Amino acid sequence: MRIVITSSEVVPFSKTGGLADVAAALPKALSLVGHEVSVIAPYYPQILQQYRGTLPAIESTGLSVYVSVGPKQVEGRILRSVLPGSNVQVYLIDQPIYFDRSGLYVENDQDFRDNSERFIFFSRAVMEATRVLGLNPDILHANDWQTGLVPALTQIEYRGKPGFAQTASVFTIHNMAFQGQFWHWDMLLTGLDWKYFNWRQMECYGHLNLLKTGISFADMVTTVSPSYSREIQTPEFGCGLSGALSSRHDDLFGILNGVDTEIWNPATDPTLARNYSITSREEGKRACKVALQQRMGLPVRPEVMLIGSISRMTHQKGFQLLEQCSGMLLDQEIQLIFLGSGELRFEEMLKKMAHDHPTKVATTIGYDEPLSHQIEAGADAFLMPSEFEPCGLNQMYSLIYGTVPIVRAVGGLADTVVDASEENLAHRSANGFSFREFRSDVLFWNICRARAMFADKLKWSQLQQTGMGQDLSWKHSANQYLQVYERAIHKQSV
Ligand code: ADP
Repeated sequence: MRIVITSSEVVPFSKTGGLADVAAALPKALSLVGHEVSVIAPYYPQILQQYRGTLPAIESTGLSVYVSVGPKQVEGRILRSVLPGSNVQVYLIDQPIYFDRSGLYVENDQDFRDNSERFIFFSRAVMEATRVLGLNPDILHANDWQTGLVPALTQIEYRGKPGFAQTASVFTIHNMAFQGQFWHWDMLLTGLDWKYFNWRQMECYGHLNLLKTGISFADMVTTVSPSYSREIQTPEFGCGLSGALSSRHDDLFGILNGVDTEIWNPATDPTLARNYSITSREEGKRACKVALQQRMGLPVRPEVMLIGSISRMTHQKGFQLLEQCSGMLLDQEIQLIFLGSGELRFEEMLKKMAHDHPTKVATTIGYDEPLSHQIEAGADAFLMPSEFEPCGLNQMYSLIYGTVPIVRAVGGLADTVVDASEENLAHRSANGFSFREFRSDVLFWNICRARAMFADKLKWSQLQQTGMGQDLSWKHSANQYLQVYERAIHKQSV
């Protein structure tokens, strides 16, 4: 199958969250089983500076695309690279006016004012790059609102044209909370007829909505976990689009993300103080915990449960629960490490906790890839009390690293973490702590449960072994994507 995957971010060229991980790992997994896969993403020169030295070479193809964005004709130079460790071609669209900025979507906590223009340009450039590169895809797979226009352009403008004779489109929703909703006049930038600006296709409460556009026009729609695919068809989780999603019920599938085990593997991870596997995890994790406590300036105390968190510090991730129970939490014999950035209120709270309780809490505000690996390896438990969670990757990294996740049973967290109830322990299916109610006292109680079990070496190591023994690689998920691709192609051919 010839597959083009497009995303606004892809590791190692750019990343703000799980989308970038998926946009690299899925193509690699598909390519490994013999498919011809290309990735198209924007070229962000300032962001790339951060990764200099670790990046594969990026070269010019000598080709450009010229696309209309409203009244403007805009050029996008096509650069070429490759996903490390694979033969997946990556094409980066270079347009400095749109993408040579300090952030991908925001600056100083504010969305760029021209985000619709930037990604309408990008979506049109994806179509044209696919054409001029002669990629002839069977599948054009777009992700999230930034590429939501791609399925619409496939259906409305490109279907049947040379290079797109058989092309079917798939659209994946990574997070309903980000919809790319803009004022209605931005419809003019899309170049599409106003007839598509209706409540069934591109319009949402009077606005242009690019996530809805992707959902409406794609041949098949997926999201990143089975539970989330059910949740988003309800008003509680649908963020205003539950109706649009329910109307695509038969074409909507939840496929759990996998883990890129070339990057996330405690046996080979170059950032760790000591590598380990399921059999050497006790010594390995002990050494990693000491190194982590030292790095974060916490007392080196092997007997104290160390809880890690690597996250956007936002409401979605449940930091308000932590805020509410922080007093009780700090009375406990535990250590907490936080890495991330986000809402100022939560950043300030976590910095203050570290300042006031330096022997118990360490907080790093910012983005730090090696530290994120060291936390996954060195922590005993990992905290993820999300209000909603499409899939979540960190709880899966935790499982692989023998770090027991404490999560709210929602979305992908519900699909991956099995609570340490007596019954689940007896079945040897338990791998973490999981609770339903979004309440701070319930979170606190579960942290206490975890701490009690941490003291029971036998049970704790059973939880670790169950997690580390699971196959969370992309193999299974890539197979499910292939089935969805087949259905999309079949829909096209009838
Ligand atoms: P999100 O909703 O943010 O996409 P996920 O759990 O799906 O949440 O994925 C987040 C990804 O970003 C993970 O790979 C995680 O390790 C990484 N990450 C998040 N914050 C940081 C940070 N501050 N430093 C390093 N990596 C981070």
